[in-house]
Amino acid sequence: MTVPQITLNDGHTIPQLGYGVFKVDPAETERLVSTALEVGYRHIDTAAIYGNEEGVGRAIAASGIPRDELFITTKLWNSEQGTDKPRAAIQASLDKLGLDHVDLYLIHWPRPDQDLYVDTWRQLETFRDEGLTRSIGVSNFHRPHLERLLAETETVPAVDQLELHPAFAQRELRAFGADHGIHIEAWGPLGQGKYDLFGEKAVADAAAAHGVTPAQVVLRWHLDHGIIVFPKSSTPERIAANFDVFGFDLTPDELAAIDAIDRGQRVGSDPDTATF
Ligand code: NAD
Repeated sequence: MTVPQITLNDGHTIPQLGYGVFKVDPAETERLVSTALEVGYRHIDTAAIYGNEEGVGRAIAASGIPRDELFITTKLWNSEQGTDKPRAAIQASLDKLGLDHVDLYLIHWPRPDQDLYVDTWRQLETFRDEGLTRSIGVSNFHRPHLERLLAETETVPAVDQLELHPAFAQRELRAFGADHGIHIEAWGPLGQGKYDLFGEKAVADAAAAHGVTPAQVVLRWHLDHGIIVFPKSSTPERIAANFDVFGFDLTPDELAAIDAIDRGQRVGSDPDTATF
């Protein structure tokens, strides 16, 4: 099974399909990431705030997979933005992961109320220049936050990682990203199980037509739209099934029917007002 590689605006490549570990129990993370690596995933998405970077690191070390075949993302938590905190934070993440660099380091949320993200972004540019991370990007950044980075700093983010699923399809930010070379990553790609996405007629019909699961249909919808995606599961069978999404093709009509589910239905926090 060959996962498509996407070339980012800095020339580095990222596997379009990965495994995300938000809410994966730290005590189970090594086992579940090891399962994912055995299934064939080579892209892991974690964050300092998830508390499971050590488990990700142990699974990487135990896998024996050459470092340059893996793509590891982690994220700077909101309380660590600004002044001298980001350097200590990235070093702490690297120590927990047991790595000398990550492939992608993200500002987790803009937290516009703090007004520290532009300064923080300049620090991430330095970390990239020093080789602590190969690429730098942002998460949960809305257009005004991106526009400030474009106007006030040297580096266009490689990615913006956003809540994105059929009922919250982020069309405007996807278009803005396409115009500026910012690739979009989806978090909550399956809606975090917070609404009946799998019961949506367009999803259920496509699953029945192709003899696959609704989750596989939704992941394929993301991939066909060029979105980078890393579903989370703590069930080995689902981790394997979520990787097995290249054996069928959605028709243009099926894709359009899933596109029509969009109703601006957020399941997570609004980045403009989040204060955690
Ligand atoms: P998700 O949409 O991937 O949903 C995960 C849930 O979907 C699981 O708990 C499980 O209940 C269900 N599920 C998974 N596979 C399934 C299958 N095959 N069949 C049926 N149900 C299935 O939500 P997520 O974990 O929040 O998002 C994915 C990743 O995105 C995270 O693990 C994390 O890496 C990242 N993320 C980032 C942010 C951010 O602010 N940047 C926020 C949330 C998540």
